[in-house]
Amino acid sequence: MKKPFVIAIDGASSTGKSTLAKALAQALDFVYVDSGAMYRGVTLYAQQKQWLSSKHFDQDTLIANLDDIQLTFKNNKLMLNGSDVSAAIRSMVVSNAVSQVAAVSAVRSFLVAQQRAIGTQHNVVMDGRDIGTVVFPHADVKLFLTADANIRAQRRYDELKTVDPSVTLDAILENITQRDHLDSTRADSPLVQATDAVAINASDFGISELLSHVLELVKKQM
Ligand code: C5P
Repeated sequence: MKKPFVIAIDGASSTGKSTLAKALAQALDFVYVDSGAMYRGVTLYAQQKQWLSSKHFDQDTLIANLDDIQLTFKNNKLMLNGSDVSAAIRSMVVSNAVSQVAAVSAVRSFLVAQQRAIGTQHNVVMDGRDIGTVVFPHADVKLFLTADANIRAQRRYDELKTVDPSVTLDAILENITQRDHLDSTRADSPLVQATDAVAINASDFGISELLSHVLELVKKQM
């Protein structure tokens, strides 16, 4: 079998990675993997089990029970042990705790192994924080998205307000600022641009313009 083609898209929170990744996967007929959803799924599981709250985090129990967590994607929806949790993982309760869970090395190696397994079986577009640096250091195409913080907060707000009407723009701005800080300063696999990634400021483009630009880059590598 021909080696699968891997497109890695990294960047800070709400830079439009998943919108681009989904459109790209659809245009190329590749599998799309939202690696952030997987970290959110583990976070939700730990909260449901009451191993994680705003006051405490029983990391050891989570680590000891990681093998009980089964995450799969069905039509781009995240399934946690068979239930669709794609709405629940977007709540602010999960958003405010996920970076803490993503900093745990055992959680990372548990999820990275699953991400790599998908990328060895399928042509894939995967978005996250460490896809081009750690998960697929030899990805065929690596992109690093940036965008203005206010545009990012507004984007997340527009996505979330239908799911959670109580959410405010200020709370989102605070959450993404805090997550970016935790994600870029953690010891294991921090958010950093791979030296061979193409940096794109997503605030400069609309999605269709961005998609055509990236498709050009991809076709050159194919
Ligand atoms: O992409 P999204 O914003 O949904 O990711 C949620 C969180 O999951 C990030 O803030 C980060 O803490 C973690 N994450 C990660 N590595 C990835 C993808 C996400 O640490 N590859």
